Amino acid sequence: MSYLKQVDPEIYDAIFKETERQAFKIELIASENFVSEAVLEAAGGVMTNKYAEGYPGKRYYGGCEFVDIAEDLARERAKRIFGCDHANVQPHAGSQANMAVYFTVLKPGDKVMGLDLTCGGHLTHGHPINFSGFLFEFHGYTVDRETEVIDYDQLMKQAKEVQPKLIVAGASAYPRFIDFEKIRRVCDEVGALMMVDIAHIAGLVAAGLHPSPIPYADFVTTTTHKTLRGPRGGMVMCKEQYAADLDRMVMPGIQGGPLMHIIAAKAVAFKEALTDEFKAYQKTIVANAAKLSETMKEKGYRLVAGGTDTHLFLVNFVDVPKVTGKKVEIALDKAGITVNKNTVPFDPEKPFITSGIRIGTPAITTRGMKPEDMPVIADFIDRAIQNRRDDEALGKISGEVAEFCKKFPLYRERMEG
Ligand SMILES: *Cc1c(COP(=O)(O)O)cnc(C)c1O
Repeated sequence: MSYLKQVDPEIYDAIFKETERQAFKIELIASENFVSEAVLEAAGGVMTNKYAEGYPGKRYYGGCEFVDIAEDLARERAKRIFGCDHANVQPHAGSQANMAVYFTVLKPGDKVMGLDLTCGGHLTHGHPINFSGFLFEFHGYTVDRETEVIDYDQLMKQAKEVQPKLIVAGASAYPRFIDFEKIRRVCDEVGALMMVDIAHIAGLVAAGLHPSPIPYADFVTTTTHKTLRGPRGGMVMCKEQYAADLDRMVMPGIQGGPLMHIIAAKAVAFKEALTDEFKAYQKTIVANAAKLSETMKEKGYRLVAGGTDTHLFLVNFVDVPKVTGKKVEIALDKAGITVNKNTVPFDPEKPFITSGIRIGTPAITTRGMKPEDMPVIADFIDRAIQNRRDDEALGKISGEVAEFCKKFPLYRERMEG
């Protein structure tokens, strides 16, 4: 008998329904994934009870000998995965990881450059409604209008004009490889520090499928819950010379007690990320994204930057009359397919409407879907878009989607009630 079911049937029921939703819909949100039972067990464990302000061996509280083991393992494994000098695994999320770096090296009002939001950048890369935008003077660089790939020459020109203290690379919705070496050259030219936010591509970098920023960047930040397939959280890696300042900025600078249960779960995910199975998994993510995007292209859809090198791609509806990202997201949802609307480069629509959708394969790959399954998914997507005004047709597709999903079981034991 579940304790939760007895104590709080409403929350039990919501979690049960969420488990079913994850199992019977096609999850194509590029930033989501399904963690292992081992990660869930650590994240749901008794380390949630422990206060451990400070770092292993140097805590402000007693009784930290076992949480120290967890944090030491997480840090060591992170260093092994990415080959970095130093890792801080305490940031509660990717946003806090970015905040920690900004506060370590910047003063309010300092100039920073980051990828423009409509070109795939993240809120914490200078959006005016985010702390990054209201504390620092961000200047957005963009992609080339034709190729929709980052315009590195223009970035160099702009950096010479702006003279930023920091250049941020990395994105939430950019389908091509980012050339970190070129960005380092820009940083060196203008005397800027370099931060790379690999929140989305961390798993690919871990598996050697996306060039690593570690040799070039002063700081590398990431989330742990996207392609890396760990618990929801963040991490900062940096060169040794910044380690002490960074650690002080994470705690006590911007956070109090670390989430030790989540740090334990990060350690478990990092152990998984060091295996050959994980490398094979990341390869399949990329193969699935390649196949799904090619199939969509064959069906006549226009893709941002013409396709993908990574785990995600963007479908661009800017030329399609009356179709917006919002409308497509809603139609797909009714058909049992979960995506998010997303701005496309130089999008004329507002962020709540948008002219595109973002599609990612990390989650479906975790449940065992392979390139040969991608045409089936592309058909579902295409039919849903064609029938976007027909709720009955969308309902029928949703039934077929649920049947299809049954071939790839997920969290089965959790649904046995
Ligand atoms: C997801 C993401 C983040 C933020 O992560 P949260 O854990 O949601 O705060 C930061 N940067 C990039 C590029 C991201 O994609």
